[in-house]
Amino acid sequence: MNQAGSLLPACTVCGRPLIPDEIAMTRKMINRGARQFLCLTCLSRRFDVPEDVLREKIEEFREMGCTLFL
Ligand SMILES: [Zn+2]
Repeated sequence: MNQAGSLLPACTVCGRPLIPDEIAMTRKMINRGARQFLCLTCLSRRFDVPEDVLREKIEEFREMGCTLFL
């Protein structure tokens, strides 16, 4: 079950409720128009990139002012 009040989608692979950063990262790594999103764990498996690296990337994109990461 999603958290109460959350309208965010769940990971299409494992079903875990997603946070906005994970949705933004899916858009960044797959494509901007993605409608199915993956959590960081599943993204890291799919792209063979450690989760920690993905977290660092999120911070980098945020610092660069990427509009997907507000
Ligand atoms: Zn997942």
